[in-house]
Amino acid sequence: MSTTKAPFLPFIHHYADLGETYSLAVQPQQVEGSELVDVNTLELNNIDLEGSAEVTAILAKILACEWPNDRRLPVAMNYSGHQFGQYNPQLGDGRGLLLGEINTERGLIDIHLKGAGVTPFSRGGDGRAVIRSTIREYLASIAMRGLGIPTTGALAMAVNQTSVYRETRERGATLLRTATTHIRFGHFEGLYYRNQPNELKCLADYCISQQFNRADIPPGDYRKWFQVIVAQTATLIAKWQAVGFCHGVMNTDNFSIAGETLDYGPFAFLDDFDPQFICNHSDHTGRYAFDQQPTIARWNLAALAQALSGLIDDHDLIKAVRSFDSQFELAYRNEMTIKLGLGAVSQSLRSSLIEEWLTLLAKLSVDYTLAHRALAGALDSDDQFSAFFHHQELAKNWLGRYREALGDIDPEQHRETINRHNPAYILRNYLAQGAITAAENGDFSFLKALKTCLANPYDSVVGYEGFAGPSPGWAKSICISCSS
Ligand code: AMP
Ligand code: MG
Repeated sequence: MSTTKAPFLPFIHHYADLGETYSLAVQPQQVEGSELVDVNTLELNNIDLEGSAEVTAILAKILACEWPNDRRLPVAMNYSGHQFGQYNPQLGDGRGLLLGEINTERGLIDIHLKGAGVTPFSRGGDGRAVIRSTIREYLASIAMRGLGIPTTGALAMAVNQTSVYRETRERGATLLRTATTHIRFGHFEGLYYRNQPNELKCLADYCISQQFNRADIPPGDYRKWFQVIVAQTATLIAKWQAVGFCHGVMNTDNFSIAGETLDYGPFAFLDDFDPQFICNHSDHTGRYAFDQQPTIARWNLAALAQALSGLIDDHDLIKAVRSFDSQFELAYRNEMTIKLGLGAVSQSLRSSLIEEWLTLLAKLSVDYTLAHRALAGALDSDDQFSAFFHHQELAKNWLGRYREALGDIDPEQHRETINRHNPAYILRNYLAQGAITAAENGDFSFLKALKTCLANPYDSVVGYEGFAGPSPGWAKSICISCSS
């Protein structure tokens, strides 16, 4: 009798091997009538796999939660975390499973299945995900990857006929997601507050040895490791602020120790520039408002620092957390300098132009993405540029100073610089909603067209100009609920 196993993905199981303190084996619960919607070839290539009928068939089975019985079971990770500032001692993967890691040229990559049914951490939930939240996460991951912002990846998604009850009956969906690691700040908080210092040290050693931070950290150098986490988090948040991304649920369980954007819920890309914008319907106090994101990231790092206080000297922890502000400021200024094409302009002039620009955008409440893209034409004609703004005089004044600062730069070169660093396409809520409504009616063409544009957001695609326009009035400032 042959013992050859059917082809599968080349999973290894380093995290699962750490044992039951860290995760529990779970059998995925099969869904009814799973239909593969899309495989993201870009992300497949990122894990060193080529698209093929065989790979597609394997992904489709996994998304249907059909797990071969001759393969090692996936695991649900055990973590806790601070939600809206309150410590929740028990969270964990309630509806997602770590299938294993894949060894790639870029290091280990986690493969995670979301919506696979209940786990020991489901806390009364159904372990499922609905179509709308799955599409939002799928497209958001593609958009962030296209924008060059560290993020978990969207590998493939499917919809199914299993009923999922939220405010009303909805259909289920599953998502295959990649990540450098799914280890969250909350993993360490759980071990700290459960008073498991040895297990905590073991997880920190694991993170360093597996090189999740893709940095040269000597074994046992926890101080350096934490400094790298601070630096990577500062860089990440600077990119969010520069592109106008609002995460919406910056709880410590949604913060990756690898500095990647993780867990897309009620996120939004800004429409009209409102620094105080709140995208999460449940965020009554504005804790996670757009302009609070850097402060909250530092708060989360302080929560992680507390959890690591048995490993790293207090003085070093405080110093590292305090360094967040200056690292963020520097990274943010660099991002904005590039966006505005001000690389050749003196430091002080740069800073004042950026500051005045943001004040102008907020004052005139104009579309954040379109305003930046309009800078491409800033050297052509006043009217064309200022026509974009309601209050032309203010815009004209700023434009005069901007032009003066740029000196005699070639207008074509300037246009190219601006277009290369300011996206034509972002995932506006109403676009995501369009893809969702079509998908719920069995039409995935909207989703796929949107995916094409978001994967290369800096290049305008003929025929898809509509995706590059502003949100219609009714759709601006949509507040999304956490329900998913
Ligand atoms: P999230 O808001 O998706 O980051 O989830 C917060 C916590 O709730 C995590 O521990 C999730 O695993 C859990 N969770 C969210 N939705 C469900 C669900 N439908 N079933 C079980 N657990 C869930
Ligand atoms: Mg989460």
